[in-house]
Amino acid sequence: MKKALFVNMCGQGHVNPTIGLVKELIVRGDQVTYIAGEEFRNKIEKTGAKFIGYKNSFDVQNLFNGNLNSENNDPLLKVIGTFKNIVETLFNLNETFDYIVYDSAFMLGNEVGRVFKIPAICSITTFAANKRTNCLSEQIKKFGPNIQKLLNSFEYMNFVKNLKQEYGITCPSIVTAVSAKGMINIVYTSKYFQLCGESFDESYKFVGPSIAARKEDVSFTLENNEKKKVIYISLGTIFNGSIEFYENCFKAFDNMDVKIVMSVGKNIDIKAFKSIPSNFIVRNYVSQLKILKHADVFITHGGMNSTNEGLYYDVPLILIPQFVDQPAVANRVAELGAGIVIEKDKVTQEILKQSVINILSNNDFKINSKKIGKSLREAGGYKKAVDEILNLTSLYEEVAYDNEK
Ligand code: UDP
Repeated sequence: MKKALFVNMCGQGHVNPTIGLVKELIVRGDQVTYIAGEEFRNKIEKTGAKFIGYKNSFDVQNLFNGNLNSENNDPLLKVIGTFKNIVETLFNLNETFDYIVYDSAFMLGNEVGRVFKIPAICSITTFAANKRTNCLSEQIKKFGPNIQKLLNSFEYMNFVKNLKQEYGITCPSIVTAVSAKGMINIVYTSKYFQLCGESFDESYKFVGPSIAARKEDVSFTLENNEKKKVIYISLGTIFNGSIEFYENCFKAFDNMDVKIVMSVGKNIDIKAFKSIPSNFIVRNYVSQLKILKHADVFITHGGMNSTNEGLYYDVPLILIPQFVDQPAVANRVAELGAGIVIEKDKVTQEILKQSVINILSNNDFKINSKKIGKSLREAGGYKKAVDEILNLTSLYEEVAYDNEK
């Protein structure tokens, strides 16, 4: 039995893929302590892991929207605040661990592993990045002014200094941190779907999406007795606030003989919609994996998890990327012929309707999504990820033991 320490940052998209891993590690006899934002307590505790929450003030939306003006509410300070909270939590644990699995957004994870003298495993919920992929460094360039503001801030410099003095942690450069590498790197997609998949070394384990039953309190399930085509719509859990987009969907599909399931996110008051067409089922959150099994088209923001999950079930996609890595993900889907990309500023009811008609009438989209789907299903999922983690930790233990002799 070994003791695992998981550290996560950000939202559902970063936590969900790790759930299968945690459960499987526990099934195989390891003990897991999971540190994440307090809002994930319920979800994590259901896996059987011990949960330790920190105050999550990381406001991704404001950070990437560039709303950096307000004095008291600066998203950059919140990022630093969240890092500080995690580091303090980690170093206040009166326990030792055998290995650490950290989300790639927690760019200090590898350093924490070094200081704790345990193997560090990076969990990458988007495309893995290197010099060839370029996609994430493009994002860094785009948000350059924000990043620069962060690097120049007094608070950031103090934070870096403190990390070194108090904890012995060397903070990596933010620019190189996008390719955050652990001893091994678990990537939740297939080598086929990964951008420049062949350019990654053996430390990258492309295990495919971590599809595991999630114990979520979602009462609604889809019964499709009428054999109508099913369109599933979701913009994920973060950039999902555009009422205009949802209204466009109502208008686009109102008269179509299809069934629509639309997840609008937890911040939208569904009662505030003026009228919802009768072929729509609108919810704040649905059990996405269950819906995707029945879906014929998935209209998505191109979040890495949603994209992988849709393709895992061979569903062709209409992608409306919002921010961060989503344009790169969306373009990759289009490049492999499994979907259509619509720029978010160009969404109209006509384009939405026409895109759905195109997908449903051209079988190539289905054939190509099946090809990606097959690669994702064959990648091994969370069981393969756990095999890789246990191989590494056993090897590390043997080597450490030999060194002591
Ligand atoms: N999700 C879900 N039900 C919903 C909306 C989202 O289960 O109604 C899950 C989805 O399955 C995925 C995650 O939330 O695992 C969203 O992650 P993604 O990377 O696609 O987008 P993000 O929310 O990070 O923008």
